Amino acid sequence: MNNEIEKVKCLIIGSGPAGYTAAIYAARANLNPVIIQGLEPGGQLTTTTEVENFPGYPDGVTGPVMMDDLKKQAERFGTDVRWGIATSVDFTHVIHKVVVDEENTFEADSVIIATGATARYLGLESEQRLRGSGVSACATCDGFFYRGMDVAVIGGGDTACEEASYLAGLCRKVYMIVRKNYLRASKAMQDRVFNAPNIEVLFGYNTKEVLGENEVTGALLVNEKSEEKKIDISGYFVAIGHTPNTGFLGNFITLDEEGYIVTVPGTTKTNVDGVFACGDVQDRHYKQAVTAAGSGCMAALEAERYLGTRIF
Ligand code: NDP
Repeated sequence: MNNEIEKVKCLIIGSGPAGYTAAIYAARANLNPVIIQGLEPGGQLTTTTEVENFPGYPDGVTGPVMMDDLKKQAERFGTDVRWGIATSVDFTHVIHKVVVDEENTFEADSVIIATGATARYLGLESEQRLRGSGVSACATCDGFFYRGMDVAVIGGGDTACEEASYLAGLCRKVYMIVRKNYLRASKAMQDRVFNAPNIEVLFGYNTKEVLGENEVTGALLVNEKSEEKKIDISGYFVAIGHTPNTGFLGNFITLDEEGYIVTVPGTTKTNVDGVFACGDVQDRHYKQAVTAAGSGCMAALEAERYLGTRIF
């Protein structure tokens, strides 16, 4: 398709567990969904290794295989999976316009936004190189692989405290590397951290380098006096926040102060009729594949109901 307008009943933007689950339900309801895969086809899970907490895989599964399974399942019912990145939208009218790759326009009766959130990293070369080999942005996903070992969590917000507390239950020792000399997290979360005997908070430290050739063996830290400190760790968990992928939505969709899509509580409805949001792009708390999949199912059911009550 080139510079043409394509009309669809249900356009799904994003191909993580939320997007594919929405596609499976929408396809089985004869909504003939088209899914736009996005920048990272398969979503964040394709960057992880083993997934052991998605129900139905008793022996675990790798992230890429699971996403491929979800894709096949969506295609089995007729989902049309396309390459491309949604670059802008126009939700002024009842027919919703979505532009893909800045040149192809879709006119969709309903739209499901499932573009996820991107974990923030520090931007160090060593951190990039060791991603998936000890560097992770999800303790719930990967913490289990480091049970009995020493690990570090980077950040001082609620997520970092939550990740550190979770890891403290699995690991021998957890270092929290906090760049300021206080935690930004809520009092309750701070108490959990300070009450855990095996969490040591290192205030005023930044990471200079994550150490290790093929897997993480340590981290080199530096404080504001330029004093260096080396810690020996096997896991390096970055918890400095996520950026929801909502930049292409302009001012059409209501976002919260951190850029997450605001949905009507208990639903996936956005402020625009016929536009639904599911998965991490509207979830700042849970961010799990299974919760994303659950909300993808909700979005498809709500889109189906919406389409059943409208005449286009
Ligand atoms: P936050 O933005 O609240 O915290 C990010 C943390 O990472 C801060 O300590 C920040 O340091 C640090 N940081 C940011 N960039 C860097 C960097 N380059 N180097 C080192 N450290 C860095 O993000 P969260 O993900 O923790 O929380 C997001 C939102 O979700 C918050 O509103 C939070 O309250 C909420 N939340 C609530 C939970 C709960 O209630 N159970 C659980 C999880 C999240 P600094 O302070 O110096 O800026």
